[in-house]
Amino acid sequence: MLQQTQVKTVIPYFNKFTKKFKTLNDLSKSNDSEILKLWEGLGYYKRAKNLLACSKILVNKYFSKLPDSLEEIKKLPGIGDYTGNALLGLIYNKPTIAIDGNVKRVFSRILNKEEKKIDFNKFIKKNKKKLFSTNRNADFVEALMEFGALVCKPKNPNCFACCLNKSCKYFKSNNKIESIRERMIKNKNFDIFCYINKKKQIALTKDNEISFLKNFNLPIIRETNKTFPNQSWKFLKNYKNSISNLKLNINLYYKFTDKIPPSYRWYSLGRNKEFIPSFTKKIFKQVSTLF
Ligand code: SF4
Repeated sequence: MLQQTQVKTVIPYFNKFTKKFKTLNDLSKSNDSEILKLWEGLGYYKRAKNLLACSKILVNKYFSKLPDSLEEIKKLPGIGDYTGNALLGLIYNKPTIAIDGNVKRVFSRILNKEEKKIDFNKFIKKNKKKLFSTNRNADFVEALMEFGALVCKPKNPNCFACCLNKSCKYFKSNNKIESIRERMIKNKNFDIFCYINKKKQIALTKDNEISFLKNFNLPIIRETNKTFPNQSWKFLKNYKNSISNLKLNINLYYKFTDKIPPSYRWYSLGRNKEFIPSFTKKIFKQVSTLF
């Protein structure tokens, strides 16, 4: 839940989730629609699906125990080097480091060397005696992440209070490296076409190929092209939405009808029992202004 998401946002979701699923076994008996409903609003829904898939594999194949090697753990859905190393360190106290943006920045500053010029795996291997000298590897994995977030922050690192400042090349150097990474933002234009009816319902389909919401409930959505849509669609409004590193410029169209294509189903513009992604809920909000 914490990947790409702040702690304060996660807390209510975490509490609700762990109240519902008290054990790995409980979670493994769930299904996509149930966990997506609990995850609704948190975004990055692939995480929820991967978590469920992991629980099923762990229960059925690994006797409910997480594998203790990186090679094996990475076979689980959604687990790559970062999460795998974090889990091995935190759960099994293995001498590993979860290399994320915070950790890269800390090492890069200590060396006063640009991130792209550092081979982090080689660096860790070369310094493993110093890095893993206490055998408190679980604490060390966590501490490094926290250190990057709280002390050696992206902007204005707290160097004067830092316990590493005596050996930190960034602190001592008159020629400090630039260490704020620009996020690659992509701008995209989308047209969205909503079938709506007089009962305040909107037709959605899971049959879509939009990468960031593939197979989730959406109206018709497509990247804007120059041809003006069929005249039977009425323009409602233009608005912006951001998902991850995508900045979306959206033109919203609508049509009142009772006839919808076979892969579509009607959903209330109010509350629904089924999971609706936040992106689609924002469309609901715009369309509701018609009533
Ligand atoms: S001295 Fe400053 S730059 Fe160096 S590790 Fe500490 S907080 Fe980061």
